[in-house]
Amino acid sequence: MRKIALEEHFTTPELAKYVARPTQSDSIFADIEKRLADFDQLRLETMDKAGIDMAVLSVTTPGVQSEPDARLAVRLAHSANDLLAREVQKRPRRYAGFAHVAMQDVGAAADELQRAIKDLGFKGALINGQTGGHYLDEDRYLPFWERVQELDVPVYLHPGGLVDHPAMFANRPELNGPTWAWTVETATHALRLVFGGTFKRFPKLKVILGHMGETLPFLLWRFDSRAQLELGKEIAPGSRPSEIIKRNIVITTAGVCAAGPLADAIGALGEDSVMFSVDYPYEDTQVAADFIDSAPISEALRAKVCHGNAERLLRL
Ligand code: ZN
Repeated sequence: MRKIALEEHFTTPELAKYVARPTQSDSIFADIEKRLADFDQLRLETMDKAGIDMAVLSVTTPGVQSEPDARLAVRLAHSANDLLAREVQKRPRRYAGFAHVAMQDVGAAADELQRAIKDLGFKGALINGQTGGHYLDEDRYLPFWERVQELDVPVYLHPGGLVDHPAMFANRPELNGPTWAWTVETATHALRLVFGGTFKRFPKLKVILGHMGETLPFLLWRFDSRAQLELGKEIAPGSRPSEIIKRNIVITTAGVCAAGPLADAIGALGEDSVMFSVDYPYEDTQVAADFIDSAPISEALRAKVCHGNAERLLRL
């Protein structure tokens, strides 16, 4: 079965210091760093062995969004996109690109996205969470979303680190990372877009969430019920949180290789809203491929999840 993977990461020599460390193990992190920097060998070997036809590549978290100097961030994002474009050009049937954008400078981010789509042939953007404590539902980002809608490309909302130190993670560093805090951060970020009116303003936006939708698909009923209680009256049809999520958010299986959640996510969001991914090099490509190949779903649905939905959304 043809497979396209959407949450597949890389870094560049210039961006080496902007790579979050998700493990205490030096040897595992060394292997991750080696794989992030490689385009020619390990990555392709791993894809070939597991039967991944195409990987849509993105700068790993947090990337330039963690750089305090906005001008430097803009310059580094530009050169990372150029480097990725050269790699994609070498193997256009194996690689595609998501733009890296410096959200510190909203105008420059919109322009860089446009350059990446129109001149470099990228398929959308991937944003690594908050930038300096700012979230994408804030008014400052309206020009960026306007451009995204104009260009008609999806934005992958990927976890980044937390900007502060909430008491709930005190003395529990093992929870303050990808095991849990990143999920909370990204799910909350997506809900800020849902509740903050971003999708009402830009109804054509498509935001992609990884990690089987960062728990959102499992909570649709509760979002509607509690939002209605909060409002104190019936929410207008079409404006319920569940309806907005189903309309504007699609998800990938990146980093969740479990059949139960897959079935639940498809049930909650629909057959056209779930796409296969790996989260290379943080997850095992073979495990992800075996999982989707053996998931108890029909062959027609497997084809949608493995490649059809991505081909439609990213116009591959
Ligand atoms: Zn990832």
